[in-house]
Amino acid sequence: MSLLERIKEEERKIHGELTALSQAIYEHPELGHEEYEACRLHTEILKKHGFEVEVGSEGMKTAFHAVYKSSKPGPAFGFMSEYDALPEIGHGCGHNMIGTVGTGAGIVLSKVIEEVGGSVEVFGTPAEETWGGKVVFADNGRVDHLCAAMMAHPNANYHRSGEALAIEALRFEFYGKPAHASSFPDKGINALEGAIQTFVNINGLRQHIKSDARIHGVITNGGTVANVVPEYACADFYVRASTKSYLDELVEKVKNCARAGALSSGCEIKISNYEASYCHLITNKTMDDLFTQNLLDAGVPKVYPPRTSKGSNDMSNISFRCPAIHPYFGIDETGEVVGHTREFAKQTMTDYAKEQIHYVVSAMAMTGAQILMDEDLRKKIREEFDHAER
Ligand SMILES: [Zn+2]
Ligand SMILES: [Zn+2]
Repeated sequence: MSLLERIKEEERKIHGELTALSQAIYEHPELGHEEYEACRLHTEILKKHGFEVEVGSEGMKTAFHAVYKSSKPGPAFGFMSEYDALPEIGHGCGHNMIGTVGTGAGIVLSKVIEEVGGSVEVFGTPAEETWGGKVVFADNGRVDHLCAAMMAHPNANYHRSGEALAIEALRFEFYGKPAHASSFPDKGINALEGAIQTFVNINGLRQHIKSDARIHGVITNGGTVANVVPEYACADFYVRASTKSYLDELVEKVKNCARAGALSSGCEIKISNYEASYCHLITNKTMDDLFTQNLLDAGVPKVYPPRTSKGSNDMSNISFRCPAIHPYFGIDETGEVVGHTREFAKQTMTDYAKEQIHYVVSAMAMTGAQILMDEDLRKKIREEFDHAER
C-alpha cells in the first residue's frame, strides 16, 4: 500500500472524531483568548492519540503545543490550529475547521511517523482575528526549529497559497482642552481637529504610496456635545502593504500625518498599537506545489491559483521564521459563500464541507511526511526561504 493510501486510511479511522470536534467548536463559539473549551477539546484528542501536550504556551491561556516524536531522530514539521470565533456571527471565518484539519493532520502524520522519522508538532494558536497568537509563538522563537509549517483555511473554493498583506493597527489619541465652544472658543484646544487633520494629511499621502498599499481608518471618539470643545479624540487605522519593509516605511509617514495634525491643532498625541502587527506572507512555492499535488492525488478535482483579494493573517509571522504555506480549501460546491458571514459558519457544517476534511487532512499529513523523509526537498525549501524578500 502506498504512503498516501495508508495516510488516507488513518484519516478515515479518525474522521468521526474530527467532524465531532469541528461541530462542538461551531456550536460553542469563543472569542480570541477566551477559547477555553476549544483548547480543551483539541488537547484532549491529541493526548488521547499519544501526543505530549503543553497548555498555556507563551503566557497565553488558550494556546497549546503538542509534540509526537518517532524513535528516529530527525527534523520536526508543524501544523497550526486556530479556533477563535467572531463577535455576533460565531465561526463566520471557519476557524472551527482550521483547528480540526491542523490537529487532524498532526494525528494522522503521527500514525506513520515511525516509518517517516523525525517528529510532528501541533500549535494551538489563539486569537487569529485580533491579537494573533502565532505572532507570540514566532517572536519567542518557538517555530525556528521547524523544517516547515502549514495550516489550511476554509474558503468558497480551493486556492493555492498566495500573498497576504503586512498590517499594522495604529491608534492615535489626541488630548486637547475643553471650553464653551461659543462663549470661550479661544480658551479651548480642539482634540477632534487633531483627528480630522490627520485624515486630511493621510488623504494627501495616498497620492504618493504604492498601489497595493492600504490605509483605512475611523474616528472612534470625536467629542460628546457640540457646545463643548472636544478635549479627547481617538482614531484607529489599519495600514497595509505588500512587504513588511514597505509597511515600516509607510507607518512612519502615517504617524507623521497624525503628529502634524496634533501640532496644527495644539493637541498632545499618544500613538499606540491596538492589535498585533502582521508581516506579509512568504509563500514557499516548493511546499505549495507539493501540497497542491497531494490535494489532487487525494481526490480534489481542482485547485485554483492564489486568491486575488488580499487580507492579512498571523501565519505570515510564522512564514518569516520558517518555510510555510497558507492555502485555502473549498467548502461550498457553488463556490459562492463569503467569509465573515453567518452563512459561512453554517456552511462548515454541511456534508460537503465535512467531506473535504478527508482530502485536506490527508494532503496535509502527506506533505509533512514527504518533507520529513526527503533531505534534498528540505534543502530546496530552505534555500527558497533564505532568499525570500522580507
Ligand atoms: Zn477571519
Ligand atoms: Zn480566518
